[in-house]
Amino acid sequence: MSDCLFCKIISGEIPSNKVYEDEICYAFYDISPMAPTHFLVIPKVHFASAAEATEENAAAIGHIYMVIAKLAKEMGFADGFRVVTNCGEIAGQTVHHIHFHVLSGKQLGSFN
Ligand code: AMP
Ligand code: ZN
Repeated sequence: MSDCLFCKIISGEIPSNKVYEDEICYAFYDISPMAPTHFLVIPKVHFASAAEATEENAAAIGHIYMVIAKLAKEMGFADGFRVVTNCGEIAGQTVHHIHFHVLSGKQLGSFN
């Protein structure tokens, strides 16, 4: 999608600090980290949020969770981390290309 910030990160038009990449997804450090480890994992196919999950893109979502588990082991935080995907502006979503925040490295607070 031509005017999407995260599509531009995938294409390299906007620089990012890469964590991981394969044919299905791209992971990069969040520019404004909320925890000692905070990166985002995004599918290379553009869709807006978890509200747009379909039979067609469900495999990419499953793949992303597999990649997160692999990175957690390799990066040494498999003992405790949080995966968050904000869905819609009411939930605080600011970039409308689905992304999974991965947070670790400190005691994470309760949501409620
Ligand atoms: P959300 O509020 O769930 O839509 O999350 C969007 C996230 O993208 C925020 O945590 C931002 O800090 C992050 N972000 C915005 N622009 C960039 C960028 N150019 N590189 C890395 N992370 C970014
Ligand atoms: Zn996009």
